[in-house]
Amino acid sequence: MNTPSAQFSRRQFLQTTGAVGVGSLLFRSPLLAADETPPKVAKKKFGRTGVEVSHVGAGLMFDTRNAEVILRTAHNHGVNYWDTAAGYERMGSETGIGTFFEKNPEVRKDIFLVTKGRGDLAKSLDGSLSRMKTDHVDLFFVHGIDNISAVDRPEVKAFAEKAKQDGKIKFFGFSSHNNMAACLSGGAKLGWIDGAMITYNYREMHKPEMKAALDACEQAGIGVTAMKTLGGRSGSDTPEQAALLAPISARGFTPAQAKLKAVLENPQIAVACVQMPNMKFCRENIAAALDRKELGSLARAALDCHAQATADRYCGGCNHLCGAAVAGAVPVRDVMRHLLYYHNYAELDARAMFAELPASQRAQLTQIDYEAAERVCPHRLPIAQLMREASALLA
Ligand code: SF4
Repeated sequence: MNTPSAQFSRRQFLQTTGAVGVGSLLFRSPLLAADETPPKVAKKKFGRTGVEVSHVGAGLMFDTRNAEVILRTAHNHGVNYWDTAAGYERMGSETGIGTFFEKNPEVRKDIFLVTKGRGDLAKSLDGSLSRMKTDHVDLFFVHGIDNISAVDRPEVKAFAEKAKQDGKIKFFGFSSHNNMAACLSGGAKLGWIDGAMITYNYREMHKPEMKAALDACEQAGIGVTAMKTLGGRSGSDTPEQAALLAPISARGFTPAQAKLKAVLENPQIAVACVQMPNMKFCRENIAAALDRKELGSLARAALDCHAQATADRYCGGCNHLCGAAVAGAVPVRDVMRHLLYYHNYAELDARAMFAELPASQRAQLTQIDYEAAERVCPHRLPIAQLMREASALLA
């Protein structure tokens, strides 16, 4: 529904851009006159924490050491949820954030800073704090779990409690690219999880198990962050598949903006964290969040049609299926994710991520028979072909 305030915002927004498109606003924003206030993205409460976070978050999974203008633009537009991790770009993400805070100390208090770690969590957290030149992070995630058993451990709970007592973290949770719905449902039962970050997009949102998991998180007061909102590799549509998205451009959005808005319109998602590795993505994502016009039924239907027509290009994070079929010899889902980064995000070093897989797994990539895995894959992905592609591009 277009409320009067929403219509006003839209009108204001178009006036500010000169009615030539959403991107222009954000191109101008660093150059706004001193007495002009940049429009701010809407905020939402992050679960039971009571903290208000920007509806769209800044994904900083890249080397931020030369990204001051991106960080400043995000801050100017009220994007206060900043997401990083110890491992991103060999510490370059956290190091750049630390440099930015050192140069702009007044900004830190505005930011809901999120990082992730694995292994020795206390050591990982201390490293993150040191690199980001801050005495605390607002939310700390155990990074990339496949199963809630990775978190549901006395030593993990003890770490979270002590880190909170010491003032090093305010809130605690986990992130997941795999078996997301099961991880969320399991986390909702624990009673001591504040937040969770999961792969969630226009393809995932209709799955009954995902809907049930989000209901459980809402009841448990867990703030949910969506990531991977694009839902797979972009730019590989056939002309027929691309034509399915025509109602989206008629509505005034790019396909990426429409996919983001579909996620943002779910009230159970506190924040959609989107990668902002360059100014183009930064502008496009913030502009989508600023534009209060709803996606609309035709554009939503177009996304649903597109999801069905391109399901065989999307890896849905069900590694328990293909992983079991190859007896765990290759982490198929992780390799799919590296391939996605290679194709979608030139700024990310997908080859370096791939290189972190055990050598034995990389060596077996093209040696394994994937027939059983392809049979159980709900998206009917040509796994053998994609593993060969990954080997050729990433090894
Ligand atoms: S390759 Fe198929 S079975 Fe494996 S995680 Fe992706 S969608 Fe699931």
